[in-house]
Amino acid sequence: QPELSGDFGALMGWADEFRRMNVRTNAETPADCRAAREFGAEGIGLCRTEHMFFDSGRITSVRQMILAEDASGRREALAKLLPEQRSDFSEIFRIMAGLPVTIRLLDPPLHEFMPQRESDYDDVAAASGTSVDRLKRRATELHEFNPMLGHRGVRLGITYPEIYEMQARAIFEAALDVAAEGEAPLPEIMVPLVMGAPELARMRALIERVAAEVFAERGTDIAYLIGTMIELPRAALRAGDIAEHADFFSFGTNDLTQTTLGISRDDAARFLGEYVDKGLLPKDPFVSIDEAGVGELVELAAERGRATAPEIKLGICGEHGGDPASVHFCEGAGLAYVSCSPYRVPIARLAAAQAALAGA
Ligand code: PEP
Ligand code: MG
Repeated sequence: QPELSGDFGALMGWADEFRRMNVRTNAETPADCRAAREFGAEGIGLCRTEHMFFDSGRITSVRQMILAEDASGRREALAKLLPEQRSDFSEIFRIMAGLPVTIRLLDPPLHEFMPQRESDYDDVAAASGTSVDRLKRRATELHEFNPMLGHRGVRLGITYPEIYEMQARAIFEAALDVAAEGEAPLPEIMVPLVMGAPELARMRALIERVAAEVFAERGTDIAYLIGTMIELPRAALRAGDIAEHADFFSFGTNDLTQTTLGISRDDAARFLGEYVDKGLLPKDPFVSIDEAGVGELVELAAERGRATAPEIKLGICGEHGGDPASVHFCEGAGLAYVSCSPYRVPIARLAAAQAALAGA
């Protein structure tokens, strides 16, 4: 594995002797995956797939898929995206060389994918053979007043299962491609924004069906995990039921903080500093997890999840995973790993070691 060199490398080596938790990274581009490995990341804890779909060569197909009126229209558009996703994932699997890679199924606020300009509608019309008027009517039907609390995450997988089918197929095909070259990847498929067990049960069945199809076509198989993000208060409360269908939980503390406090993560900066200065909150809850409410929900979900599934793997992939005080909190909650942006991996390694020593 690539390693940091010199004194910094030595310091990291000492930290690694003491830490208990693994340190993974949040990465979705080959450059970030490589940087994270150089900093010592032991896997990917969150590969977001939204940005992959904004690529200029793909966005028209994505819009065609979203604006399609039925499943066959969506499948037509998704067929164009499958080879692209397959190569996205195979490249990441190659770089991560057998380390675990948690790929999160699509979780966009839907409005970000909507056509923005007249020419976007023209492009979708040309690609799909649908009139611009019909596409605009469809966009109006899909309009949401509050997209961050709307038709996103697993809800999209429930209403448009074809999307997650395509992504699951791309993951399994890529994993088998890379396994055939030598080192077998370790895919972990993660379902976002789950609020209860029935959603995850349905998505698990879908993913397992796609896996069985791909393995039968290829005459070979590969090990994989299916899990979910815990990023809604209801998911934390229902963690005991959800754990029946999950091999792992990853705490999405960005959304969990947003939904627990009812404060938009995108707008919090306008007033949170003043709240902290005035002593209304002890710390910025979007930075530090140990804020009454959010941290308690993490502990409660871990406890309820483990009561159902003692071996369930628990990690965190919200921004807090790279904050030293939050890393200490995660050690106390007994998480198996923290995941953070590539450049925070060294600080997380150090914080995890300090937390383990403090605990001991
Ligand atoms: C989260 O909500 O904490 C998370 C990691 O997902 P995202 O930031 O992509 O919503
Ligand atoms: Mg989230």
